[in-house]
Amino acid sequence: MVKGRETENRQQRIDHFFSMPAARADRWRDLTAIANDWSAGAANRSSVEAALSALGAIEEYHAFPGRRLMSKLAERLHAGSAESFAELARRLSRSVVTRQYKHDSADWRSDDSAAASENAFVETLESGGSRRPYFEMLLVTPEAAMRSSLTDEMRRLRRPEDAFIYEAVQVASFEDAISAAIINPAIAAVTIYEGFAQKSLHDAQTLRNFLGATGFGSPEVGERDRPLALANALKRIRPELDIYLLSDRRVEAVAGDPRAAAVRRVLYSVEELLELHLTVMEGIAARFRTPFFDNLKKYAMRPISTFHALPIARGKSVLKSDWIRDMGEFYGLNLLLAESSATTGGLDSLLEPTGNIKQAQDMAARAFGADRVFFVTNGTSTSNKMVHQALVAPGDIVILDRNCHKSHHYGLVLAGGQPLYVEAFPMTEYSMYGAVPLASVKKALLDLKDEGRLDRVKMVDLTNCTFDGHIYNTRRVMEECLAIKPDLIFLWDEAWFGFARFSPFLRTRTAMGAAAEIESWMRDPKSVEDYERQQAGLGKSPSRETLLATRLIPDPRQIRLRVYQTNSTHKSMSALRQGSMILVKDVDYFTVESQFREAVFTHASTSPNQQLIASLDVARRQMELEGYGLVANAIEIALAIRREVNSHPLISKYFKVLGADAMIPAEFRSSGFVDFLHPGVTWVDQVRSMHEDEFCLDPTRMTLVCGTAGFDGTEFKGLLANTYDIQLNKTSRNSVLLQSNINNTRSDIAHLIRVLLEICHGIETQLAQGGEAGRAAFDKRVKSLMHDVPELPNFSRFHQTFRGDAGKKTPEGDMRTAFYGGYNPAACEYVPLNSEACDRRLKDGPEMVSANFVIPYPPGFPIMVPGQVITGETIDFMRKLDVKEIHGYERTKGLKLIKPQIVAAKTVR
Ligand SMILES: *Cc1c(COP(=O)(O)O)cnc(C)c1O
Repeated sequence: MVKGRETENRQQRIDHFFSMPAARADRWRDLTAIANDWSAGAANRSSVEAALSALGAIEEYHAFPGRRLMSKLAERLHAGSAESFAELARRLSRSVVTRQYKHDSADWRSDDSAAASENAFVETLESGGSRRPYFEMLLVTPEAAMRSSLTDEMRRLRRPEDAFIYEAVQVASFEDAISAAIINPAIAAVTIYEGFAQKSLHDAQTLRNFLGATGFGSPEVGERDRPLALANALKRIRPELDIYLLSDRRVEAVAGDPRAAAVRRVLYSVEELLELHLTVMEGIAARFRTPFFDNLKKYAMRPISTFHALPIARGKSVLKSDWIRDMGEFYGLNLLLAESSATTGGLDSLLEPTGNIKQAQDMAARAFGADRVFFVTNGTSTSNKMVHQALVAPGDIVILDRNCHKSHHYGLVLAGGQPLYVEAFPMTEYSMYGAVPLASVKKALLDLKDEGRLDRVKMVDLTNCTFDGHIYNTRRVMEECLAIKPDLIFLWDEAWFGFARFSPFLRTRTAMGAAAEIESWMRDPKSVEDYERQQAGLGKSPSRETLLATRLIPDPRQIRLRVYQTNSTHKSMSALRQGSMILVKDVDYFTVESQFREAVFTHASTSPNQQLIASLDVARRQMELEGYGLVANAIEIALAIRREVNSHPLISKYFKVLGADAMIPAEFRSSGFVDFLHPGVTWVDQVRSMHEDEFCLDPTRMTLVCGTAGFDGTEFKGLLANTYDIQLNKTSRNSVLLQSNINNTRSDIAHLIRVLLEICHGIETQLAQGGEAGRAAFDKRVKSLMHDVPELPNFSRFHQTFRGDAGKKTPEGDMRTAFYGGYNPAACEYVPLNSEACDRRLKDGPEMVSANFVIPYPPGFPIMVPGQVITGETIDFMRKLDVKEIHGYERTKGLKLIKPQIVAAKTVR
């Protein structure tokens, strides 16, 4: 890839965070290439010098190659020894790119060096036989200590019995510490000495803007306050980091400062370094521990006779069989040894955990920023039903997005809650919906208030982010709703978004991230003033228009913060399929605790799968120790795909990944943010958009428009799967959805781009050979896919019979009665979709009332719910729908309706 000089310069800056790891690898590759040329006489020394300096200051934020090897490199350059320079550059580059240095001590050797500490490192890296996890510790020290041998001393503390191994990275300023924590994902612990500087010696304007915009680090902080300010800033960026503070002052005084909550331990600096070393190890061990998985492994090793009902347990029924032994061979013995229906003897009960499952859940709560966590082994489909059942009683009103996953709608039928559907903004041209504008939710609440029925609303239930990547401003939604009803419960379905906790960009937009911010806002005395000032401004009875137009501030003294999140851990982290979690942050949880237990008993299997539980435990460990880097990588890959597709001369002729500007109407992007790839957009714009805008786009969810290449979504999905082994999930009429996640690598990008290119070449060849007629047919097809798109139907309304006791202004319904009405065959009839009868009923009545859910896949939301009046809009949409799978619709019979006379007589039971 050819880069302009300007891009080069920009990427050299330490604060060009987005593409940092990839850019780093590229620059090492560049250096090797030019070093090889130099030793072959095909390049001169100054070009090598330029490539070396292009590595830039960010090398200082990584332990490897480290200062010693880097100066070795420089020495060889200056001595003019092209061969040996190239040899070393190749070796270092290979190690940086493959990350082999984490496990291979040879990579750290600098040939002639006899430094004892290095040898010590070499030995310790290898001791113990098996590969020990490697991490880096950030040491923030005064400038004067930079020339000390602190990192060598830390190295000498290593012992063969250590479970992990680490190297220290030393920096001398607040800004460098922040940069290192952002850039270097291997950093897992931070030790802060007092007396370091504020400013980096490097050019870091973007970083300064960022710190200013987020309030993470103010340059005005005095030296005395700086360590705790740094600890807090680091925690806000990477909450999983262990932070240690070494202080010469009275340790008790520092530890007593409320801001010291960010610090895991305060040590007195003259205490032994060994104490620090052991503390750091213990901190990592605390995250590494997986209580349930660890016990399951132990359990599997024990000789246990089972007399419970699970023949497969211990593998005996499989391994001794002539007929099913291949199962044991395929899955391996451990799977069978770890199968058990026991809940004791080292295991625990998922239904009433008191032992290691409870511990595992508590650790997950810590990792995901919740008060408590429930592990669920039947997917988020079940998690959602549990939350609905636990919190919603018959007759309670729930405001929800009609495009919510079907588990919410079914959950409401079971719980008897009354859905008040609010509509997402439509994206008709791509046959998909966006997210629900906050104004619609506020309007529903204000309507209920006008009718004196606000007390009936229990919960607001939204999907964050949506399938297509629309992220809510979770904090603003909750604050404004709480300003209208201070004890409202929120359920955020973050089925896709669990990973977002580990990105500092995305975290504020998660349920738990926002809840934490609201919580600390509530504690700030200024918040009451803000609230009272707004109240004074609004006057006694502000008009509805004013309330809708104002960003409402809730009364911090009144709020009951009750936030629930469900996530399909298996969709975005390393859990086995169906592994899911419910996160709870609810000050009034104790009032619903027994209901929650009932909901778990109702929905959870009494035979939960041990492997699933273990995988949830392990997924948490991974995210706490490497989630930050993995998520950053997933984002970086997504940005690279966006860039490559949209700027490739041939690919961009037929395909496009939609930017934030295409996915989110401008009215919801008040910060003026256009897209990640818009010229001149920086990290700061991105952060500002994340803080301010009503909706943002998750960069990892990429809508690839394929209609412009003549493919409908389903067809294109099939082509990618069958011919190129590229799997994807969601399609629309003219697009497919690509997702990057924590397992993607840069070769996946290369593969995708090559495939798209091949497809484009195919189209070009076809067009060249097809003559005018072929061209015309292609254009017609594209036009049909891109322009003849069906209008997306809004939710019509519940029939009056199924409105329960709803008021005049609000559209909630009694879906459950209609749903069970459908159980009585005598009360139902079928009308074929493409029939005169259907047209006649639309025109002349009587109104058609759906007896069940009708859910086309894709898009997967109900276009009809029980009790809903079916309108022409919905019929049109269904007739144009070109998907095969429509749940709840039997082609041979037609639409299942409740008979008009039954509806009219209100005799549905
Ligand atoms: C997938 C999904 C669910 C259901 O989760 P499972 O783990 O598949 O049961 C719920 N909500 C949304 C938004 C989803 O995408």
